[in-house]
Amino acid sequence: MASKFQAPRGTFDVLPEAARARARLERAAAEIFARAGYETIATPAFEDTALFERGVGQSTDIVRKEMFTFEDKGGRSLTLRPEGTASICRAYLEHGMHKLAQPVKLSYLGPFFRHERPQAGRYRQFHQLGAECIGSDSPLADAEVIMLLSDLLSELGVPGVELRLGSLGSLEARRAYLEDLKAHLHAHEGELSKDVRERIDINPLRAFDADDEGTQGVMASAPTIVERLEGEDAEHFQEVRSLLDAAGISYAVDSTLVRGLDYYTRTIFSFVCDQLGAQSEVGGGGRYDGLIEQLGGAPTPAVGFAAGIERILLALDEAVPAAGRDAFLAVADPGQRRRAMALVVELRHAGISAEVDLAERSLKGQLKHADRIGARQVLILEADGSAQLRDMETGEQRTADTGKLLEEMTGGEP
Ligand code: ATP
Ligand code: MG
Repeated sequence: MASKFQAPRGTFDVLPEAARARARLERAAAEIFARAGYETIATPAFEDTALFERGVGQSTDIVRKEMFTFEDKGGRSLTLRPEGTASICRAYLEHGMHKLAQPVKLSYLGPFFRHERPQAGRYRQFHQLGAECIGSDSPLADAEVIMLLSDLLSELGVPGVELRLGSLGSLEARRAYLEDLKAHLHAHEGELSKDVRERIDINPLRAFDADDEGTQGVMASAPTIVERLEGEDAEHFQEVRSLLDAAGISYAVDSTLVRGLDYYTRTIFSFVCDQLGAQSEVGGGGRYDGLIEQLGGAPTPAVGFAAGIERILLALDEAVPAAGRDAFLAVADPGQRRRAMALVVELRHAGISAEVDLAERSLKGQLKHADRIGARQVLILEADGSAQLRDMETGEQRTADTGKLLEEMTGGEP
């Protein structure tokens, strides 16, 4: 009985089987965040459009073409959040979190929205988990957030992961470099793709991401910022590398790495997975020392990451089996239904997962149902008040002591 309604393009339902793998991921992330002192923050699913225009950047793909923007009844322009960092920085400012012990370490998990062309690993509503460490410019903070994501991916057992690391330098160094990069691109305009050519002056870094041969040829000889890092920027990058080396985290320095957001400074990183084809990035992030000032706060250094939950799950591609039920309460006689209902609640309070027939089936139907839901034992309440306990794995059945039904059921469990 198919309905004429379907989930909107680029969205999906998480059915119970998939929800189990997702729950395992969420639990692992929550534990890693808690152990490292990253407390949870939750922000609204939509914000003022201007927050993302400012905080993500006018020249980015996200702001240029991927936002779900709408007007509310009061004529305000709102946007479904395409990413988490701008909202968290807004909350940091709004709630005066600069008065707390610094750095403020936060983590989040939830749905995000981008109007993209749907394909495997790319959706219009997807989920990210992430962490932000706000209020320290030390390379120690960069190393810590990289380690958190590295830990999560290895704890989950994501195969074929590689960490790519780069640096964009400080805002000033980055600005000077961008001028040289623009000059290089203008000098080779004829060889560039139309999209890259049109954006030379708005977002020249994106040319490193282009997949056409012409642009790639031009980029092979382009100046990179990593090779010209100097002074404190170079020291900062070197220290991040030394910290990762000391922690035994391997990485490849990638001087062509760019990130989708405008506000990155210094460290940028990306975890890619070779099992994922075109949408290979499972997560990434970097330092964004200029963002909070950009949003109207005092200059505040910060670093963070975001990882795509669907991409991690795709890379893991695992089926987590259903837990099954400890017990099922069946009735041989309809007169016993109330007793069964009272007992099932008692069992649940004692920490046992237990179900009772909710469809008023015959005894045979109940036993079949108990088998389908994977119940390990079935208690059959008889008309005369006695009870039979059946072990569904061995098929053994015996008379239960009705005075101690709770003990009977718990005792049957290892
Ligand atoms: P991509 O280059 O794949 O578009 P991005 O640079 O836009 O990625 P970020 O903005 O850094 O990605 O988002 C962090 C992570 O969120 C990505 O590494 C990816 O795992 C995930 N992600 C981003 N966009 C989507 C999407 N539309 N659907 C599913 N996951 C996504
Ligand atoms: Mg993108």
